[in-house]
Amino acid sequence: MLNKIKKQFNKKTNFEQWPGIIKGYKKWLPINKNTPIITLQEGATPLIELESINQIIGRNVKVYAKYDGLNPTGSFKDRGMTMAISKAKEEGCKAVICASTGNTSASAAAYAKKGGMKSFVLIPDGYVAQGKLAQALVYGAEVLAIKGNFDTALEIVQRLANEFPITLVNSVNPYRLEGQKTAAFEIIDSLGEAPDYLCIPMGNAGNISAYWMGFNEYLTEGISKKLPNMVGVQATGSAPLVFGKIIKHPETIATAIRIGNPVNKEKANIVKKESKGTFLDVTDEEIIKAYQLLGKQEGIFCEPASAASVAGLLKIKEKISNNATIVCVLTGNGLKDPDCAIDNNEAIFKQGIEPNFEEIAKSMGF
Ligand SMILES: *Cc1c(COP(=O)(O)O)cnc(C)c1O
Repeated sequence: MLNKIKKQFNKKTNFEQWPGIIKGYKKWLPINKNTPIITLQEGATPLIELESINQIIGRNVKVYAKYDGLNPTGSFKDRGMTMAISKAKEEGCKAVICASTGNTSASAAAYAKKGGMKSFVLIPDGYVAQGKLAQALVYGAEVLAIKGNFDTALEIVQRLANEFPITLVNSVNPYRLEGQKTAAFEIIDSLGEAPDYLCIPMGNAGNISAYWMGFNEYLTEGISKKLPNMVGVQATGSAPLVFGKIIKHPETIATAIRIGNPVNKEKANIVKKESKGTFLDVTDEEIIKAYQLLGKQEGIFCEPASAASVAGLLKIKEKISNNATIVCVLTGNGLKDPDCAIDNNEAIFKQGIEPNFEEIAKSMGF
């Protein structure tokens, strides 16, 4: 097996690049011969075994991270955005708009530019991680920071898209979820079967709905034989789906899931019911603990919202059955939120050291 892969790599001229999720999963997506494919070759992200978490849980469970922070703009949003932007282009649209806690705006801006379109993004002023804001600016979006939270921004962009010739690319756009379901396909393609549990952070709950759609489509086609229990995780200060009510003033360090009124709440509740799943909340402290564990023990740097999936798994570890296969979705890249990283680590970081050999050797403990 390995030899075969090596051979393929050595024959450089024959080695084909991954073409992105639309070409990669063409038959599963609502495209036709007139759809222009706007791609940055998203998808085909790693599925990494988390040995330290295997050990914590024990009982022969196998835990994997679907590291979707390795997409072109650093989050799973790219899977949905390649579809949304390609369909917008097919329909002749010239501009797109979204409300965003950061990653949607980064992704929309990048794909809109790739497709030759203009993008407008509404963000909650002061609540978007630095890296994400930097991306939207570099990709040339028009960034409008409002004195309000995500939920307010979403209400406004929905109205703007209704009244003006501009396409909405939030996860109410059905093409977003179509693209995002390909992550479930990739997991089954890698493992040969669906996992027993899928742990995933929920904000607007588009992604959990997309995964469920993907798992069901492979089951219907007979590619897999079972469906996972879906474990949806929210931050305690921002957990409308766990508490079953709108949260007027959501708060959490995990800004990507700082959403009090998820647009996909009906869909999410169906996923919970159909998969006999669990929704639970984790505190910011638990999120940071999982975030640090992933960095220190596994060499994986994800954003705090993503670490919520692992924090959620650790919280319900006693309920996980023996020998289970579990996938935790790491939705975004840690580089997006450098402030969180610098404020929350236990690294040795000595500053102001004189640039001489003896002094440095001494600080190293020699
Ligand atoms: C968007 C996002 C989420 C939440 O996804 P939903 O589809 O809104 O539930 C989680 N983590 C990261 C990093 C995100 O960018």
